[in-house]
Amino acid sequence: MFLEPLSRGHRSGWIEVITGSMFSGKTEELIRRLRRTQFANQNLIIYKPHNDIRYSKTKVVSHDSNSLESVNVKKSTDILKVPRDINVVGIDEAQFFDMDLPDVCEKLALSGIRVIIAGLDMDFMGRPFGPMPALMAIAEYVTKVHAICPHCGNLATHSYRLSDETETVVLGEKDKYEPRCRVCYNMGDKLDFRATNGKLKKK
Ligand code: ZN
Repeated sequence: MFLEPLSRGHRSGWIEVITGSMFSGKTEELIRRLRRTQFANQNLIIYKPHNDIRYSKTKVVSHDSNSLESVNVKKSTDILKVPRDINVVGIDEAQFFDMDLPDVCEKLALSGIRVIIAGLDMDFMGRPFGPMPALMAIAEYVTKVHAICPHCGNLATHSYRLSDETETVVLGEKDKYEPRCRVCYNMGDKLDFRATNGKLKKK
């Protein structure tokens, strides 16, 4: 489990990335870390992209319905308007932000802020997603979390899209995606979980 580093000497910020597939517990882990900063009486603010309104417009909500208030922003440079007394910035669904986000996070960290980012590492095609690769490169700490593949019980690393839509961004939950391990992901629609009431079926 991630434990906060002790800060010594000059007041310095840093960048943490929490990443993995859908249903891997990224937002739960983000909320866990942010709640600990609240216990430590730190001032925090949470941002998310304005296009993520699956659960709530003004909250970061995990799959287990844990939630914290959040601010919606249209572009990543809007995050630079962070209030002066803030010690901790949380960013959820970071994969949907533009490519300025790594620069923005560097600036925040340099100004002494702890930046905690959660986002998908790969899109539904298994491709690195938006600014996430660059964020993982510049972060001091990267945590990969995993879901469980419902077909074989191994660790799931991929987000398999159940619908036929082909756009990179299709918002949805268990109706549209399921977590899969590398092997089951590559079997594609040969594995149809829904049609068999949970029993593995090979076409
Ligand atoms: Zn599997």
